[in-house]
Amino acid sequence: MTSAVVVGGGPNGLAAAALLARSGVEVTVLEAADEAGGGTRSHEALLPGLVHDHCSAVHPMAVTSPALRSLDLERHGLRWRLPQIDCAHPLDDGSAGVLLRSVAGTARLLGPDHDRYLALLEPSVRRWDALAEDVMGPLLKVPAHPLSLARFGLPTLLPATALARVFRTPRARALWAGVAAHAFRPLSRPFSSAVGLGILTAGHAAGWAVAEGGSRSITLGMERVLREHGGKVETGVRVTQASQIPPCDVTLLDLDPGQVARIYGDRLPARVRAAYGRFRRGPGAFKIDLAVEGGVPWSNVHARSAGTVHLGGPLEEVAHSEREVAAGRMPERPFVLVGQQYLADPSRSVGDVHPVWAYAHVPHGYDGDATGAVLDQLERFAPGTRERIVGLHTTRPADFAAANPNFSGGDILTGAETVPRLVLGARPARDPYSTGLPGVFLCSAAAPPGPGAHGMCGAGAARSALRHLGIQQP
Ligand SMILES: Cc1cc2nc3c(=O)[nH]c(=O)nc-3n(C[C@H](O)[C@H](O)[C@H](O)COP(=O)(O)OP(=O)(O)OC[C@H]3O[C@@H](n4cnc5c(N)ncnc54)[C@H](O)[C@@H]3O)c2cc1C
Repeated sequence: MTSAVVVGGGPNGLAAAALLARSGVEVTVLEAADEAGGGTRSHEALLPGLVHDHCSAVHPMAVTSPALRSLDLERHGLRWRLPQIDCAHPLDDGSAGVLLRSVAGTARLLGPDHDRYLALLEPSVRRWDALAEDVMGPLLKVPAHPLSLARFGLPTLLPATALARVFRTPRARALWAGVAAHAFRPLSRPFSSAVGLGILTAGHAAGWAVAEGGSRSITLGMERVLREHGGKVETGVRVTQASQIPPCDVTLLDLDPGQVARIYGDRLPARVRAAYGRFRRGPGAFKIDLAVEGGVPWSNVHARSAGTVHLGGPLEEVAHSEREVAAGRMPERPFVLVGQQYLADPSRSVGDVHPVWAYAHVPHGYDGDATGAVLDQLERFAPGTRERIVGLHTTRPADFAAANPNFSGGDILTGAETVPRLVLGARPARDPYSTGLPGVFLCSAAAPPGPGAHGMCGAGAARSALRHLGIQQP
């Protein structure tokens, strides 16, 4: 029987494994941690029953991901839950930019920016189902829907600060800045609109969904598909040398390019080793998980019902803090993302104690303590938060890296979102999943289409592996 080894059981490794197993390949996943899931795991570190997501929390891209849809994870227990409000971006005057599932409803709340918001997003939202395969795959290929892709793609070339000029009101600009900042990239750089426009479009198409029971439910669903087709996961196996990988027909690596270069060394073609060596890492994340009695007392009423809250003040402030972080300096007021997944999924709370997930953008490898800065941002928009905190757990950049070498320096996107990475992935090649070694493929978030718990990097690599094996694609 044809066999595959997948090194790393994150959402991309598991998606690749499940898709290969479904095509009749005998699959073994080797996972370093004591459970699979990588960025899609959940923990109850603060209080039994109080469910926090380790990493990935909100999933507009996953819900619409052709890879995850094709695995029919709902049949294996995955339930998506939507908050009443997808995202709020509060400002100091008590107002907020508010993102609803409905593009028309969001435009209405943006008042004077109604028509501009609608004109920017509505056409791509309407065509998202067709666009998803093009946008969530390698960009260098013949698109299935070239006109729709061009309509979506043109504004992505702009710096986010330039695109912000479309809007007149501070709240529309701030809302846009917060979503664009998901790219961990200075907002004045070309292409810095790409990630934000992708998230907004997918979000309006499907909502900023959370997985019932925690993001671990995404992992469990994929593991079940894998096992149903005879595959297995071996945990506690950290691969540091190629000799640890059992003989097999294809190997898929859910690893950052640096690890791939260290594991294969001289066996990689020199040009690939050089490209992986040059692969740029991005800024870091400093995360705090909170147990909050009664929830966060937001001043803005919309933030109280929002699954995600962006804390960074006006556009200019978000742009400044992102620039500082990229330059290796810790800003006094970092951009902070807050997740209130329990609003959509009350099963994560214990009585009136609720799990709140928050992380700040910090410089790569930042070794200071950003807890105070994150709490200050919370207090700024929700005075009295500190008094309600009954439990706190921090994950520093070094902790992210220790738990998962793909996140070295706390770079949770497995690489800086530079233009070459956005367009080419880890290196320029006709097959962006190829490592240059026959039968060995890169399937992590370092490959196209990049970070997120959507499994599309795994699906792309699985397709390349099946092509290499001469197995017909389903
Ligand atoms: C704090 C945080 C918040 C995030 N928020 C979101 C969000 O809301 N929505 C979203 O879509 N995405 C989010 N992400 C990003 C998302 O989690 C990642 O992009 C995604 O997990 C990448 O998946 P992956 O399979 O490529 O790799 P990973 O998730 O990094 O998984 C890799 C796996 O490989 C294992 N591994 C690594 N090295 C080895 C080795 N040498 N040998 C064996 N096993 C190894 C690791 O233990 C891990 O299990 C977030 C990430 C973090 C950390």
